[in-house]
Amino acid sequence: MGVTPKILIIYTGGTIGMVEEPTTKMLQPFDFTHLTNQIPELTKFNIELDSIAIDNPVDSSNMNPVIWVALGRMIEQNYDDYDGFVILHGSDTMAYTASALSFVLENLSKPVILTGSQLPIGVIRTDGKENFLTAIEIAAARNENGLPMVPEVAVYFEYKLYRGNRTHKFSAENFEAFDSPNYPVLAEAGVHIKYNQANIWTPTGLPLKVNQWFSDNVALLFLFPGISPKIVTAILEAPNIQGIVLKTFGSGNAPTYNWFLEAIQKSIDAGKFIYNVTQCHTGKVEQGRYETSMALLEMGVISGRDITTEAALSKLMYLTGANLDEDVIIDAMNTSLRGEMTI
Ligand code: ASP
Repeated sequence: MGVTPKILIIYTGGTIGMVEEPTTKMLQPFDFTHLTNQIPELTKFNIELDSIAIDNPVDSSNMNPVIWVALGRMIEQNYDDYDGFVILHGSDTMAYTASALSFVLENLSKPVILTGSQLPIGVIRTDGKENFLTAIEIAAARNENGLPMVPEVAVYFEYKLYRGNRTHKFSAENFEAFDSPNYPVLAEAGVHIKYNQANIWTPTGLPLKVNQWFSDNVALLFLFPGISPKIVTAILEAPNIQGIVLKTFGSGNAPTYNWFLEAIQKSIDAGKFIYNVTQCHTGKVEQGRYETSMALLEMGVISGRDITTEAALSKLMYLTGANLDEDVIIDAMNTSLRGEMTI
């Protein structure tokens, strides 16, 4: 690769790529082949930029595993020709896509930075320009050895760079819409971009492997006081269900009613994988700390430690889609594959 960094921008949809049509005031996707018309600042970079888009850009509420795999393939096909990738994505499900891509892109050694905005690029007060420009700068940044500064899937939003599979969108209103509640920020952009080197992923050194599968036999069971047996059973026994993210209270606690524990036991006996993830925003699951989580531990429910719901769901979709033996899946659930949980 030459001295001038080359970055590929991949547009998937979302507010960031919209402009207001002057007469109707409707938001429409802008033409990415004319990127610099919208953002003239791009010409001032000493960075070579190309852009492509997925076939039919989507509001990120319509994001799905087919697109996750397509993004993985786009990166694979262009991997040797670019120093880094910036993915423009709606903010609503960005944390899911960032998590999923971390599992798709095994042995990644180049930056894949997702960004988006709360206001469209064409709006004067947009947060999109800063997010976009800084994401490009981060994707192109190299360390003193000429290696990429951030060789992992990350999310850049409102002056902060986060590990992608640790992120959560917590605000529908603030420009600061994301956080990574259980992992330090990877970088902060002020006058300078300050990288938190110690917390940035170290590449494995192995060749990139693009994992192209996700199962849809995964469910989320969110507990609440008063949840009824019919709801619990409907989810645990939904046809073909293989993996369940169990959203528990506090440090991983759940009711100890017989009917509830029997339903969990039945699922485990049927070979289903249950991942215990806390409803709390910060902190972690510690099965066995209270009597109300001891039974889960004994039955073989697996602790998700401090994993986010977004990462837990996409990890289970990835693992159960991979045609692996039961013990390999359990092992992987107990392992931090891409830095998604603290072991
Ligand atoms: N609904 C939009 C989306 O997620 C919001 C955004 O772009 O931030 O696609």
